[in-house]
Amino acid sequence: MTRCAEFQWLPRPLLDEVRAAVPSAPADDDGILRTLECPLPAAHGEEHCALVCELEGDAGGAVWALWTGSRPPAALATLPDCPVGRCVLWAGHEHGHQPRTYS
Ligand SMILES: [Zn+2]
Ligand SMILES: [Zn+2]
Repeated sequence: MTRCAEFQWLPRPLLDEVRAAVPSAPADDDGILRTLECPLPAAHGEEHCALVCELEGDAGGAVWALWTGSRPPAALATLPDCPVGRCVLWAGHEHGHQPRTYS
């Protein structure tokens, strides 16, 4: 399946928001992705998303950046992990599971 792979940079205000609003975000800057790439299948519609960081701690979950069309990301969502092992998306996502393809 071809991936959407729409690309964006994480805007500075959203990086600051992760730092301020997500206590279980990685303390290390390397744990927060500044380059965002949509992992959904190519024909998924207007709303793109990309992983920003995995949350630390037993609860898991991850922070996602959301954007529409080619406008820069303006919103974050903290979502639980998809319960299907190896799937990189969040619980309750549409479009089928997306297995991790990188090591
Ligand atoms: Zn996309
Ligand atoms: Zn899944």
